[in-house]
Amino acid sequence: MTTTSLKLNFLPSISSHLSLPSNNTQPPSNLPISTPRKLRAAVIGGGPAGSSAAEALSSVGIETFLFERNVSGSKPCGGAIPLCMLHEFNIPRDLVDREVKRMRIFSPSNLSIDFGKTLLPSEFIAMTRREVLDSFLRDRAQSSGAQLICGLVNKVELPAHVDSGGPYVVHYSLNGSKKLVKVDVVIGADGVHSRVAKSINAGNYQCALAFQERIRLPEEEMEYYKDLAEMYVGDDVSPDFYGWVFPKCDHVAVGTGTVKSKLDIKRFQYGIRARAGPKISGGRVFKVEAHPIPEHPRPVRVRGRVALVGDAAGYVTKCSGEGIYFAAKSGRVCGEAVVAASEGGTKMIKEEDLKREYLKKWDGDYKNMFRFLDLLQNVFYGSNANREALVELCGDEYVQRMTFDSYLYKKLAKGNPWEDTKMVMNTIGSLARCNLVGQRMELLSNV
Ligand SMILES: Cc1cc2nc3c(=O)[nH]c(=O)nc-3n(C[C@H](O)[C@H](O)[C@H](O)COP(=O)(O)OP(=O)(O)OC[C@H]3O[C@@H](n4cnc5c(N)ncnc54)[C@H](O)[C@@H]3O)c2cc1C
Repeated sequence: MTTTSLKLNFLPSISSHLSLPSNNTQPPSNLPISTPRKLRAAVIGGGPAGSSAAEALSSVGIETFLFERNVSGSKPCGGAIPLCMLHEFNIPRDLVDREVKRMRIFSPSNLSIDFGKTLLPSEFIAMTRREVLDSFLRDRAQSSGAQLICGLVNKVELPAHVDSGGPYVVHYSLNGSKKLVKVDVVIGADGVHSRVAKSINAGNYQCALAFQERIRLPEEEMEYYKDLAEMYVGDDVSPDFYGWVFPKCDHVAVGTGTVKSKLDIKRFQYGIRARAGPKISGGRVFKVEAHPIPEHPRPVRVRGRVALVGDAAGYVTKCSGEGIYFAAKSGRVCGEAVVAASEGGTKMIKEEDLKREYLKKWDGDYKNMFRFLDLLQNVFYGSNANREALVELCGDEYVQRMTFDSYLYKKLAKGNPWEDTKMVMNTIGSLARCNLVGQRMELLSNV
């Protein structure tokens, strides 16, 4: 079948929803001349990154196609989001299952510290279910004018001459038939296995593997997790990450992750179950899920008029494995970049526009934060002795305030020079002490 006949077959199915220009068999107009129609964009992937990008584009009238292959599914995820995401993305409180005010961290020797002493009454970590959050964000993108296409994108065909404004052709499957749409701009929000990234040769990244069970607990056991989440560190739960118990409406999500030792992931899951022990033993597992988590950004995030956002770009912090906020935020920043560069969708954009308006802004806002969390992971998750030191340090109120402020508001919190110096000294002291104790224990166990 030729491209033209496919396209003609396809047109009626979308023209019933949208008023497409009658000369739609022509490729989009050349740049940078003002277009007689608005810019046309495809956003591939309807997770937090894709929906936020689609909302930003469609709210100024850019013709936006939002592709999602699985609208009724749920992304394997802990669903923890920072407070600032509720405010910035206008997420209603009734979408939040639990408002966590204490994060209990367990060291390898099961010493526990409650994080949260410094929280104000209005502050908490929001626990959501992804099936609920994602469909809310997708619905909102649709209300702004994006057209949701519940199909699988198979391929993005690149224009022969990007600079002359030729179209990108998005090939997808819908209800068993093959279809296509021609667009000016593509945003790849299709997660860790991104086909958009492949189509632009964006290169690869290292991934962690995360595993999670959803466990329904009897009401009396759920009471313990009313406003409390747990984190476990130690070689038994992960050699380079942490295990978690995150509370949801009527169940807990229990999981762990690793980069170094993926084949042992089930052993680590048994480890976290054993540590949580009687607190979850009365529960019934109703869902088991596993998924990769990117470890760092892709070598290429923008090529031509294609940009990657969210997990497709590799925006997950290493120390905490947090990616929902960064996905939604990068989708929005990228969408707004297209809006700004195209002057509200009235002119074609170029690669330089995306680099300037999206990448430069993103890296300016977040690169240092990602680097800092990288460093923390390297220092504190490296050995059981260092993890003991981490938990010891977490008892310090200043450390708690700095950590929570940075997490909840996504800004590296501004410290106090004297307290910062004290914190560095305490860190060195804790690391040295815990390593020394670790060495002595090892010596004793070898006697
Ligand atoms: C087990 C686990 C626990 C986690 N816990 C947390 C947590 O508690 N807090 C946190 O902030 N982060 C957490 N993360 C990370 C977080 O899940 C991701 O960073 C986040 O989902 C990224 O959002 P996204 O929109 O970029 O991609 P995704 O959420 O992966 O969305 C991509 C979407 O694209 C769709 N798609 C993919 N390919 C195609 C295609 N070809 N055609 C059409 N549609 C397509 C998919 O169906 C999917 O809906 C966790 C990750 C894992 C694996």
